[in-house]
Amino acid sequence: MNALHKSVHHSAVFDHPEMGDHEDIVFVQDKATGLKAIIAVHDTTLGPALGGCRVWPYEHPADALTDALRLSRGMTYKNALAGLDLGGGKAVIIADPRRDKSEALMEAFGRHVERLSGTYITAEDVGVSPDDMEAVARQTDHVRGTKATGLGDPSPYTALGVFEGIKASAKFVFGSSDLSGKTVSVQGLGHVGFDVARQLHQAGARLIVSDIHAPAVLRAIDAFGATAVDPAEAHRVEADIFVPCALGAGLNARTVPQIQARIVAGAANNQLQTPADGIALKKRGILYAPDYAINAGGVISIALATANSGDNVVRDKTIAIGETLAKIFDRAAHEDTTPEHVADTMVEERLAKAKAA
Ligand code: NAD
Repeated sequence: MNALHKSVHHSAVFDHPEMGDHEDIVFVQDKATGLKAIIAVHDTTLGPALGGCRVWPYEHPADALTDALRLSRGMTYKNALAGLDLGGGKAVIIADPRRDKSEALMEAFGRHVERLSGTYITAEDVGVSPDDMEAVARQTDHVRGTKATGLGDPSPYTALGVFEGIKASAKFVFGSSDLSGKTVSVQGLGHVGFDVARQLHQAGARLIVSDIHAPAVLRAIDAFGATAVDPAEAHRVEADIFVPCALGAGLNARTVPQIQARIVAGAANNQLQTPADGIALKKRGILYAPDYAINAGGVISIALATANSGDNVVRDKTIAIGETLAKIFDRAAHEDTTPEHVADTMVEERLAKAKAA
């Protein structure tokens, strides 16, 4: 066997470590525009696979495949737990969003989404702008979050869901969802974090804030009378609740032993670096609100908004995130397991039930 055959043979396609029960993995190319993309449809048991399109300059196509497989599976879980009748999918375009993106490239992507006849519904993700999605929408109706279909920026809904999730967490740990007088450390004051801080402030919480972007911190001090700390200290300050709204993997072997708060509940994706970090939180008696459960408000708004629906349906479903979390926490306590394990189990139960029906 020559080297090429050997590498193809061992290149782990069907036995890829991230391969789960994925239904379709479509490799897309359009030589005229330079489009190279992978669309992964993980599960359509509950409905068409909704998930964003990411544009990223992956060094190797194999990295793009890994991301598409991992992220599409994540969308199945997020959509199912949020009570949406949607499956999970994701698209990744291998391109530098600053250099390689063009209207023609996004239109070509739209044509390929159209060819999947609605099995996959696309939306914005990292590296994609509202204008890019308008270009996609010129070629396909299987797109959400555009001017014609959406409520605009999903961040306020994500923030609303996180706030409801914090209240549900406080109810479980402190016996009351009243946040007045509670000290809350908010890490990351971007689109979501700042709006969560605003709601916490209105609810009477004392805020400790941090961001690597100094103007955001100054704004929060000014608007909420917040106290600023170094972002590296956000998890270890004396607080009742820690709210990560910056980047992922903030909960790890180094940070978990240093956390003072009784609750970790924030918007950031993939907060646990490994499953062991979730177990470590539980051992320390710290309640963790699973990230994909608490930060689903954005996808709910993208999924349910239509030109005529207004935002009541979206708000109600987003507020229900608090109830879902309360169920998760009760069951985790009852079964002596972690909330993230319960969340996964609830999704798998919903899927099994739908498959059996
Ligand atoms: P954003 O880019 O608007 O804000 C992120 C903020 O974090 C920025 O102000 C940035 O300066 C700050 N930051 C970056 N690194 C930091 C660090 N090490 N310490 C402290 N601050 C740091 O992003 P966003 O839309 O507010 O999203 C925040 C998080 O929530 C992300 O993890 C995102 O994936 C997740 N999320 C967002 C949505 C949404 O609707 N926007 C939905 C689901 C999940």
